[in-house]
Amino acid sequence: MVRYPPAALTAHVHRYLTEHDIACPFCGETITILVDASAGSQQYIEDCQVCCRPMQVTVEADDGEVESLGIDGAS
Ligand SMILES: [Zn+2]
Repeated sequence: MVRYPPAALTAHVHRYLTEHDIACPFCGETITILVDASAGSQQYIEDCQVCCRPMQVTVEADDGEVESLGIDGAS
């Protein structure tokens, strides 16, 4: 058995990782996405947890805090 010290297990937990409830632009369901504010402003594709369609997430972040969150239906 390989044992990992606690530090190794928590290495990937980011303190800037925050949860946001957003509405899917396709099915309208409220889903929760994780945003890494430490990465700064960013755009990426996230699949809806309900209907699995891809939406484009636009994050504006400054100093490790999310300032605004935009959701668009990706085509
Ligand atoms: Zn959906």
